[in-house]
Amino acid sequence: MKYFIAFLIGLISLHQITLAQIPALDFEVIKMSQTDEPGLLLMGGIQGDEPGGFNATNIFLMHYKITQGNVWVVPVLNRHSMLLNHRGIYDDMNRKFANLEENDPEFPLIQKIKSLITNPQIHAILHLHDGSGFYRPTYINKEMNPNRWGACCIIDQEYLHGSSFPNLGEITNKMIEHINANLINPSHTYHKRDTQTSKGDIEMEKALTYFAIRHQKSAFANEASKSLSLELRVYYHLLALEGLLTQLGIKFERDFKLTPTRLYYLINDQTLKVTIANMITLPLYGLREELNYFPLPKGDIFKIKLDSPAYIVGLLPKNNQIYLKYGNKLMTRLKPQFMDFDNNLDSIKIEVDNTKMEAKIGSIIDVKNSFKITELKSGYRVNVIGFVKPNDNSKEPNESEIKITLKSCIPHFSIDKKGKIYRAEFYKDKAFAGMILFRFR
Ligand SMILES: [Zn+2]
Repeated sequence: MKYFIAFLIGLISLHQITLAQIPALDFEVIKMSQTDEPGLLLMGGIQGDEPGGFNATNIFLMHYKITQGNVWVVPVLNRHSMLLNHRGIYDDMNRKFANLEENDPEFPLIQKIKSLITNPQIHAILHLHDGSGFYRPTYINKEMNPNRWGACCIIDQEYLHGSSFPNLGEITNKMIEHINANLINPSHTYHKRDTQTSKGDIEMEKALTYFAIRHQKSAFANEASKSLSLELRVYYHLLALEGLLTQLGIKFERDFKLTPTRLYYLINDQTLKVTIANMITLPLYGLREELNYFPLPKGDIFKIKLDSPAYIVGLLPKNNQIYLKYGNKLMTRLKPQFMDFDNNLDSIKIEVDNTKMEAKIGSIIDVKNSFKITELKSGYRVNVIGFVKPNDNSKEPNESEIKITLKSCIPHFSIDKKGKIYRAEFYKDKAFAGMILFRFR
């Protein structure tokens, strides 16, 4: 038993070490601007285990357009905790707005959020959270009572003198009306929750929205219930957001019909991709659980450039692997081969189904029957992972000028579970010079 406890303590401290190794990561601010006024600051993910909020901001950025007014979006404030599916690896980030030691790892981030909130172009703030159960003003049952935080719109006070939109209570009532007119189930009904922070709510005084209130910015928080599925949480966040935008006179367009089913497909969009260091593009969905010998640039993992239509994609070093995360979702684990990246190869000549064409490094090429890499520049070689050149035992194979079919590839080496997508890796000496994926249809 003693040993077992010692073992447990060992595990716990190991866990803490792993968490502490991840630095507080900077967050992105994306400005969706049409005209200057008014300006809304929209933020998700101050807690890393509240995916409703940061998936809502992500969908908003990808599928909405602002046609009047101005919205600044912070898709996820606490990116480091999001990568770990953790509420807050450096404690609760939403309790750091009253007093904070300068040596707090998140101090620079808090300063940055504060300066966004106080920016003169920002008039209102919407902060998205996922809360437990369903808030009800009176006790109904364990899941529905005044101590629950899900399914409510929160304000710190009814009225804010000196702000651009002083009638916080009235605006919230209108937001709630809009949400409740579109409920999927009556049990999801939204309520207003006025925390009356200035009357001595010590915990709320430390929160982001109250910092905004103290700086005459109209601040609102929306809570989606953690009892609901991700697409339902996003649905209610977007209803709250649309309700607020309408109240503020900010006009928008979205490119889809707002329903939970549609949102499910947008969140789990099978066409989503990520480009790593300009040289490797992976689909986010359909990947094998683990990809072996995967080339990644040497150096700081968090400085590797990622490009994706989604704003909540990241790389997390864990257990000697690199986890590819999309929000809280794990898309694959890369077993890295850290190497020098040589970015002098822009494109290569290929033949796909006997048609000559150019392919950009970092692209995904659709193939019906066969592909061939041709006229490779001298000094470069290509290795198609899963293709075995007959009678070739060399350590550094060059597989250019060979027609490659699906049948000539070993399915186990594909990057996708279906055994259809193969990686062609280019090298110059020991340096990695890029990847192209060939996807058999
Ligand atoms: Zn929260």
